Amino acid sequence: MVSSTNAQVVAGRLPLVVGNWKMNGTRVNCVELLAGLRAAGPFDAEISVCCPFPYLADVALSLQGSGIGWGAQDCSEHEPGAYTGEVAAVMLAEFGCRHVIVGHSERRVYHAESDIQVADKARMALSHGLTPIVCVGETRSEREAGSTEVVVKRQLSAVIHALGHCVSQIVVAYEPIWAIGTGLTATPHQAQAVHAVLRAQLSAASTRAGEMRLLYGGSVNAVNAQELFAQPDIDGALVGGASLKAADFSAICRVASHVALGSTGKSRT
Ligand code: PEP
Repeated sequence: MVSSTNAQVVAGRLPLVVGNWKMNGTRVNCVELLAGLRAAGPFDAEISVCCPFPYLADVALSLQGSGIGWGAQDCSEHEPGAYTGEVAAVMLAEFGCRHVIVGHSERRVYHAESDIQVADKARMALSHGLTPIVCVGETRSEREAGSTEVVVKRQLSAVIHALGHCVSQIVVAYEPIWAIGTGLTATPHQAQAVHAVLRAQLSAASTRAGEMRLLYGGSVNAVNAQELFAQPDIDGALVGGASLKAADFSAICRVASHVALGSTGKSRT
């Protein structure tokens, strides 16, 4: 259950944990996983699950009335039309999606998505009532070259340029590529430093930047989540591998719930 009385709600930054199933699961085991997640709830943080497109109807049915949201992992930057293989944002809205991930590094790398294309996807999602979760992040070599800040600012800047002050309606996920699926997590200090840079950049574009949720993603589990979520500019997580097991994912959701309830003593920037 989402509490409306805690400090984060007042600040407009209820912790958010989003599962990214990627191209995993079967029709049967995704329903089992969601039954386990429902049974582990309710949670005091906002929780959402981004599943493969073909499972959206089953996921919607499984999560209806649970308070847990659902969404997809990509959408087209175009309105419906002759774009074979693409899925339009308006179609996701038909399935009751709350979120859509855009610009995940696996899309940027394997499908050559550009910063501008990602920004156009975010705009399309917003125009159909979905909240885009815009992913940004650097490669290991970019970090080693000291260009993390330049890379993530360039990626976010395309979105700010496309959305203007509406940028406050998105969620940003900082996902260092070297930490995704590798078991290597950015230290809380490293992650917080990048989140602070992103929030400062957003603050220059919107007076509501202080209310925006910035998620961390990259090998998050229930143990490292505790310190990550305690950082002033980290408002939750985008979770890949650990979202595929109800017990692992719900343990992360519980950590976020403790933050939401104010039991961690976390302070906000
Ligand atoms: C992701 O792909 O968004 C992700 C964060 O994956 P993992 O948690 O497995 O690193």
